[in-house]
Amino acid sequence: MFKQFLQNTTPKNQDLKKLYLLIHKYGPITKADLIEKTEIKKTTLVRMIDELLKCKFIEECGLGESFVGRRPILYDVVRNGNYLIGIHISRMKTNIVLLNLRYDQIDQESFIMTTMHTPEFVMLKIKNIIENFMEKHHFDQEKLMGIGLAVIGPLNRAEGMILKPESFLAANWNHVPIVKLIQQAFPVKVVLEKGANAAAVAEYHANNYLYENILYCVSGGWGIDCGVVVNGMILPDQYADQSGYGHMIVDLNGNICSCGKRGCIVSYTSFQSIVRQLESENALLGNMSKELFQKASLTEMMEYFKQGDKKTERIILESARYLGIGLSNLLNLFRSEIIILNGPFLYEFDGYYEQVVDNIAENIHEEKEVIFSQGWLQENAAAIGAAILLFESYFKDLNFSSEKSVAIF
Ligand SMILES: [Zn+2]
Repeated sequence: MFKQFLQNTTPKNQDLKKLYLLIHKYGPITKADLIEKTEIKKTTLVRMIDELLKCKFIEECGLGESFVGRRPILYDVVRNGNYLIGIHISRMKTNIVLLNLRYDQIDQESFIMTTMHTPEFVMLKIKNIIENFMEKHHFDQEKLMGIGLAVIGPLNRAEGMILKPESFLAANWNHVPIVKLIQQAFPVKVVLEKGANAAAVAEYHANNYLYENILYCVSGGWGIDCGVVVNGMILPDQYADQSGYGHMIVDLNGNICSCGKRGCIVSYTSFQSIVRQLESENALLGNMSKELFQKASLTEMMEYFKQGDKKTERIILESARYLGIGLSNLLNLFRSEIIILNGPFLYEFDGYYEQVVDNIAENIHEEKEVIFSQGWLQENAAAIGAAILLFESYFKDLNFSSEKSVAIF
């Protein structure tokens, strides 16, 4: 029944959906505050609230503050009973989260990606995990509002397709119609977004919409991805080549990159470039064979790097400086208020995060104040963000035209 409410695009239902969305964004909230935000007449608002209460889409949840007279009733959305699923597929692992309508994480499961993880096998695993969630938490497809997918770019959103991701271990990951594959298993609404963008959206919500301009950077072992939120919205593809962040040039005469150019950020930060550098400088870890490198997992690589000598440490921390310079360019460009840094070296290698932060601080415009963070949701951010984007997609048809309208997206 809730799904029909979300799918109903009649004018009368639009108003109810707007009100629901406001309660979702600001709840728990009183009638007086809702009138203030919407300019709806009190009698109309009372009728609309009654309708949402009757359908059990919202509920009374205690009393608000009052300086005079009776304390007002607070309203909030009903958080349980309907569910959202977010899936993040990356080179390293696939992570699946189950959220309620308040974006609380109810369950989570992930699996590591290996050379055997072709799209077909990953789909079987995903299907199995989602079916387990449904059984364990007692819900069917009617109660599943949909599935948000966060994947490595570049994407073709219109066709729901992963185009040509760099560096997947298994074969067949080029031109995968991922949305169609998911819908074959679960005929529900599916939205597709780049992992870093989805993560930025999740952190935006986790932060209670405090910072509207966010730069989210994932510096992974195999590449770099950035997510950009401007004024509370994901930066659309037409404003930036979103697959190009890792290949931003930070040194004119720098290392040769896999793309054939010189001095791209990834030619300093990826595992492969670091291993190459260790080799050329005869560091303790400098003689790792290609075969071993191909097979090594993320955990193994990080353990290996941590056991290096002083030279190894210097080379790795130097790569942090290149990352910092590249990110300071993006911060200046997008006027971000907060930068969230995610990645194995950033989380696990002593001094790496601090080195990146120092280098960004040295290179951004002096008057600019930026908040540095490792995020609140960390490894779950992209999957959670995908689920949030799925839910928000149901409200894209709403037209907030009055002057007092509240920007939600
Ligand atoms: Zn490059």
